[in-house]
Amino acid sequence: MRALGLGGAGIGAAALIAPTFHDLDELTGSNQAGWKRPWYVKERDIGNPTIDIDYTLMERFDGRQQGQCAHTLAIYYGDARVLAASGLGSAKNAQYYAANANGYLLKDRALAAGANASSIGRFTDQFGWAGRTSAGAPAVVYPTGPSTANNTSAAQTPAQMGVPKWTGTPEEASQMLRAAMRMYGATLVGYSEIDQNWRDHIAFSYEKNNCNSNSFIDNWPPPQNMSGARPIVFEDVDLAYETTSKLVIPNKQLWEVSCSWQGSNELFRRAPAWGSLANRDTFMYCQMTNGCTYNFLQALGYQMMGIIGNDATYMDSGGPPAILSGVGEASRQKLYTLTPEYGAPGRLYSIGTDLPLAPTKPIDAGMYRFCHTCHKCANNCPANAISQESQPSWDIPSTNGIPWNFTVKGTKAFYNNTVACDIYNSESGGCEICWGVCTFTVNHSALIHQVVKGTIAQTSMFNEFFFKMNENFGYGQKDPDSWWNLSLPVFGHDTTIGASDGGYRSGGR
Ligand code: SF4
Ligand code: SF4
Repeated sequence: MRALGLGGAGIGAAALIAPTFHDLDELTGSNQAGWKRPWYVKERDIGNPTIDIDYTLMERFDGRQQGQCAHTLAIYYGDARVLAASGLGSAKNAQYYAANANGYLLKDRALAAGANASSIGRFTDQFGWAGRTSAGAPAVVYPTGPSTANNTSAAQTPAQMGVPKWTGTPEEASQMLRAAMRMYGATLVGYSEIDQNWRDHIAFSYEKNNCNSNSFIDNWPPPQNMSGARPIVFEDVDLAYETTSKLVIPNKQLWEVSCSWQGSNELFRRAPAWGSLANRDTFMYCQMTNGCTYNFLQALGYQMMGIIGNDATYMDSGGPPAILSGVGEASRQKLYTLTPEYGAPGRLYSIGTDLPLAPTKPIDAGMYRFCHTCHKCANNCPANAISQESQPSWDIPSTNGIPWNFTVKGTKAFYNNTVACDIYNSESGGCEICWGVCTFTVNHSALIHQVVKGTIAQTSMFNEFFFKMNENFGYGQKDPDSWWNLSLPVFGHDTTIGASDGGYRSGGR
């Protein structure tokens, strides 16, 4: 109604009614600067997401032993099968290429090669863990050599500029950082305070670095001088730093920034042929966001620790902070976190900072509850890696009597057999089917999907009906060749998601 009043009164009246902001600080401090979610998303109390957590069961996960690690895979499948797996997958892909199979044509391979140019780890390592190689060193781009050109990437600190560091309320800082990170490529940005539970249970105990390598399949724990994997430790220092033997987080008040980078529905729907491309595509935006955010915080006078877009060096697995800060909810496919805005296709990373931020709350959009009756990802998983249980459990599953050592304890979860997933991916040349077929991987602007999502958030009564309806409508995998004739937004996904200003959609859709 207010909009009608504006239209009738003309631009002169609009100027009288519209708020006037004089600078960025005033804008970010306004009560219009909040994070607008879809109308049906309910906030929950801090520390109380829709998945149950028991910190007495949860241990800091050792990033060296993830399901992609050759040593971990060999525990369940034996050395011979693990060592042969990627050769099998490459041979399968070579057959598809030779046969000019649908989705494996030269133009398809070129598309994947293009996305791979800014893939895992590229450009991110020049900013390092926190830009410092010792506790007292000034913030610089790390490593400083051999390319001195890297140094020109570092922003000046306020001291170097001769100005005081930025100050403001946590709410102003939160909106300011989210606005900047969205401009740099992040889609959803949530915050939590780094507390003792995070330090004792959620933070990785080790980075992964090169531990996936076949070199360590029977050489465990991997020698640090060969794997490069360093422990993540806490010290009484003011500034985070790294050396060749450790990654250091200060024992002081810190905040975690959890981000999701939206993936492309249309790429994920073309898995398995384009599964790897769909997976790697999101790294492009992560790469941009990493250096830009590092410099943004440095120019404000604050530090960033952790690396966005580098799978070798995580602060944590990305899922817990995303769930605890309300970026998304847990899912049956434990590897991905479901967001109300775009469901499964998104990439998570988190960073630490000493810029005081206002924590955002866990959410309930009915998505985790929906997973209890929807089994679509599990039904479509060729490796049977996704749980078919009807209820989540505290108990860690086993394979051949060997408990899964690659999954985190302490959440009442549906467990995902990531080693089964990984060896299937290696032996078959790729997958990612579950992301594209997820019931929540739908096109966002269609009103019917908003109505269904809104209903799911309010009641579970129709969940089974919606699951069957989705199956009957045949949403999910598509012919790869049909992608080339689509007219998609820039970057191949809807970049207006989360935008509610500037003449785009309203209501945070
Ligand atoms: S990527 Fe493929 S194998 Fe792995 S969990 Fe998803 S559907 Fe299953
Ligand atoms: S396909 Fe269904 S069960 Fe699987 S993650 Fe998506 S909503 Fe949950």
